[in-house]
Amino acid sequence: MNKKNIQEHINDLKGWTRYRKGLCETCLGLCCYMPVEVKVHDLIRLKILDEFHLELSEREQIKDALKHPGVLRYTPSTQKFTLKQKPDGSCYFLDNDKKCTRYEDRPDTCRNHPQIGPRPGFCAYMKS
Ligand code: SF4
Ligand code: SF4
Repeated sequence: MNKKNIQEHINDLKGWTRYRKGLCETCLGLCCYMPVEVKVHDLIRLKILDEFHLELSEREQIKDALKHPGVLRYTPSTQKFTLKQKPDGSCYFLDNDKKCTRYEDRPDTCRNHPQIGPRPGFCAYMKS
């Protein structure tokens, strides 16, 4: 499946599948091809920032976070960072075997998907 097809499927919320336990086992893992927004505490858990950053100014937190190759940008209006996506649209932290390399420390956005997300309770399931 190419990048265009993946993005079309992700953007077609009406075509998403109601999530149920076990669904991930047969899926291509398209939720890891969506932009992931994270907060400072997620970056600390990911060890991109340190606990001491909580004592620093927002400006310094942003400056240091953006030094990491896995962090794309900061959005002031939401006070969230966006993780970088690779050229194929997959998350920076997804490996070639489609596994999250930071699963234990993954951001809340990933933990809460699909209960919280563009269409709560539904996800971009696609059979592998
Ligand atoms: S898109 Fe849905 S089924 Fe596929 S890995 Fe993500 S949550 Fe699981
Ligand atoms: S951090 Fe891990 S679980 Fe979250 S989108 Fe990236 S690869 Fe997927």
